[in-house]
Amino acid sequence: MEKIDVIVIGAGAAGLMCAIEAGKRKRKVLVLEQANKPGKKILMSGGGRCNFTNTHIVPADYISHNPHFCKSAFSRYTQWDFIELVKRYDIPFHEKKLGQLFCDNKSQDILNMLLTECEQADVAIRLNTKIERIEKNDEQTFKITSNRGVFCCQSLVIASGGLSIPTMGASPFGYKVAEQFGIKVWPTRAGLVPFTLHVAEKEKLSELSGVSVDCLVSNERISFRENILFTHRGLSGPAVLQISSYWQAGEPVSINLLPEIDACALLKTTKQTQPQKQLKSILTEFLPKRLVEVLFNSEIAEKKMATISHQQLEDVAQVLNAWQVKPNGTEGYRTAEVTLGGVDCDAISSKTMSAIHVPGLYFIGEVLDVTGWLGGYNFQWAWSSGWVAGQEV
Ligand SMILES: Cc1cc2nc3c(=O)[nH]c(=O)nc-3n(C[C@H](O)[C@H](O)[C@H](O)COP(=O)(O)OP(=O)(O)OC[C@H]3O[C@@H](n4cnc5c(N)ncnc54)[C@H](O)[C@@H]3O)c2cc1C
Repeated sequence: MEKIDVIVIGAGAAGLMCAIEAGKRKRKVLVLEQANKPGKKILMSGGGRCNFTNTHIVPADYISHNPHFCKSAFSRYTQWDFIELVKRYDIPFHEKKLGQLFCDNKSQDILNMLLTECEQADVAIRLNTKIERIEKNDEQTFKITSNRGVFCCQSLVIASGGLSIPTMGASPFGYKVAEQFGIKVWPTRAGLVPFTLHVAEKEKLSELSGVSVDCLVSNERISFRENILFTHRGLSGPAVLQISSYWQAGEPVSINLLPEIDACALLKTTKQTQPQKQLKSILTEFLPKRLVEVLFNSEIAEKKMATISHQQLEDVAQVLNAWQVKPNGTEGYRTAEVTLGGVDCDAISSKTMSAIHVPGLYFIGEVLDVTGWLGGYNFQWAWSSGWVAGQEV
C-alpha cells in the first residue's frame, strides 16, 4: 500500500489549486483523476478562452444555504491573488465585460500554468484512476482502493466537482463520499442553464433562433441586465443563464425588452407626435424586426398609432417592459455550467474546508453547496476554496 500525505480526488480547478499549495508546503501529494486528462472543464470553459475570474467578486453573488460560508476563503485568496499568478506566467488576458477576465489565447494557458505549478511543487497526478472504495482507518488515516492501486493518506480532499456535463465525466461521487461519512448533501439542480419552453411558446419563438436582445430579466427575487438569446430549444444567453440559478419550477420570469425605456410613455407620446406611423415601424427602431413580428400580430402591428386605443397601447407596453415567459424547465445537467446544492457547508469548516466531524476529510470547489454567478465566479470559488484547503491538508 502506497503511503501519501495528501490525496486529492479530482484534477479540476479546485483539486489542482489545492495540490499546488499543499505541495509547496512539502506535503507528499497525489491527485487521482478518473479522466484521461486533467482540467477538462478548464479547457472547455469560456468558449475555449477560460473566464478564469472576475474583478467584481463579492460573496453576495454566490448561492448557498449558508451564504456566509464562502466569505473567509474569498478574503484569504482573492481574485487579485489569482490574477497575480496569471500575470507571473505572462498569460495574456483581457476584460470582456462586467469584470469578466478571459485569456486572450486559449484556456490551455491556464491549465499549463497549473500543471507547471504542480510539477514545481512535486505533485503527482495519476489519470484514468477509478476509485472503488474509501475507508477511514482507526489511526486517522484513509485507505483508498482504486483500479490503479491501494493508497493510504492522512488528508483526503474531495474535489470531484458537480453533476454538470455528464459526458465530461461528471458524477455524484463527491456527494456519495459525503453521505458515507454522515455529511448532509442538499438536493442538487442544474444552474446557469438555458430554459426550455412549453410546446406552443417554443413553436412561436423558434423562428427567432439566433436573435439576441439586451434585456432586464427578473423574478420576484433578483434581476439581471444582459443579453437573452432565442434558440431552437428555448431561451439562453447570459441573462437567462443567470436567472436560471434563481428560478423555481413553475414560476414565470419577466423580461423587460426595453430596459432603458418606459414603453407606455414612449407609445403615448408617439401617438401624438407620429400618428400616421405604424406601430411596427416604431417598435423596429428599438427591437429586431423578427422579434416585433413574433410578439405582435399584424392586426395590431400594422395599425397606425392614431388608431390604437390607450388600452391597446398599455397592453403593448406591458409586453415590451414586462413580457411574462413561463419556462417549461431547463436543459438540465446536459448543458448546465454548474450544479446548485451539494455538500452542506454547515458540516465544513470555512477556515480549512475540512469536515467538522471527520478529521482529515476535505471538500472543495463545486461539490460544495456554493454556486457563483456567470462570469468567472465559479472558477474563483474553485481557486479560493482549493487554496484554503491547500494550507491545511
Ligand atoms: C461548458 C462550461 C463552461 C464553463 N465556463 C466557465 C467559465 O468560463 N468561468 C467559470 O468561472 N466557470 C465556468 N464553468 C464552471 C467551472 O468549470 C466549474 O465551476 C469548475 O470547473 C469547478 O471546479 P471543480 O474543480 O470543483 O470541478 P471540476 O472542474 O468539474 O473538476 C472535477 C474533476 O474531478 C474529476 N472526478 C469526478 N469524479 C471523480 C472520481 N470519482 N474519481 C476521480 N476523479 C473524479 C473530474 O473528472 C474532474 O476532472 C464552466 C462550466 C462548464 C460546464
